[in-house]
Amino acid sequence: MENIKGSCLCGSVEYEIVDDLKYAGYCHCSECRRWTGSPFSASGGVAATDFTLLKGKEHLKSYKKGVNSDAYFCQQCSSMVYGDVPDYGMTYVLLGTLDTSPTLRPQWHIYTDYKVDWFEISDNLPQHKENIT
Ligand SMILES: [Zn+2]
Ligand SMILES: [Zn+2]
Repeated sequence: MENIKGSCLCGSVEYEIVDDLKYAGYCHCSECRRWTGSPFSASGGVAATDFTLLKGKEHLKSYKKGVNSDAYFCQQCSSMVYGDVPDYGMTYVLLGTLDTSPTLRPQWHIYTDYKVDWFEISDNLPQHKENIT
């Protein structure tokens, strides 16, 4: 399987994942909106062992997002880059930080009950009012 590289806005942080996303989707929750400053977040998860930080560890700062996730951002440029979910042995990346497209495309929308009313979902992906259970 190919690897895909990703980086933050300023390039201080670079990482690599195996192109083997276990999930990918759009989250419309209020946390993700504030976290990204966008109407939704687009993220995808790989097994933690399929994620490698190539450089920039010293520039990363983490934020406790949710109860069981450490989200990492670049202190130089403030890009949200990735997050660990240790309980599940997963690492998710913000899909917008990838250099090229992953094989698995976003599969769903979650927390659509919290979607901003000025953004219309125009694809045919499944929509879940809350999280996928
Ligand atoms: Zn940066
Ligand atoms: Zn969210």
